[in-house]
Amino acid sequence: MTHIHENHDHQHGPDCGHTAIEHDGHVDYLHDGHLHHVNVDGSVEEHQLPVSSANPAKCTPDHRCGGHESGHVHGPNCGHQAVPHGDHIDYLVDGHLHHPHGDHCDDHGPLKLV
Ligand SMILES: [Zn+2]
Ligand SMILES: [Zn+2]
Ligand SMILES: [Zn+2]
Ligand SMILES: [Zn+2]
Ligand SMILES: [Zn+2]
Ligand SMILES: [Zn+2]
Ligand SMILES: [Zn+2]
Repeated sequence: MTHIHENHDHQHGPDCGHTAIEHDGHVDYLHDGHLHHVNVDGSVEEHQLPVSSANPAKCTPDHRCGGHESGHVHGPNCGHQAVPHGDHIDYLVDGHLHHPHGDHCDDHGPLKLV
């Protein structure tokens, strides 16, 4: 099932300013918390990162990384990119996914940046 994004007036490309990631053998762009894939005909599809062994949706209370200071609260304007993952939203921190969970961040695995 694909969901075509209607009236998408921004053209994603190598220099469009959005973070490009590798997903399932193709390139997608992170755009306002969505994963956008541009088809050859220029239409834009909504993609979603599946929960997988590379990107598990598990709790990692011991995750300590220097990606941000402890106490950082991820949110719409926190400075990190939102990434749709499974049925939730994660944030891209230093090339991996952070999922805010109580007083810590879960590590939901790496993203391949293009
Ligand atoms: Zn773009
Ligand atoms: Zn994709
Ligand atoms: Zn957790
Ligand atoms: Zn981290
Ligand atoms: Zn953040
Ligand atoms: Zn996640
Ligand atoms: Zn975090």
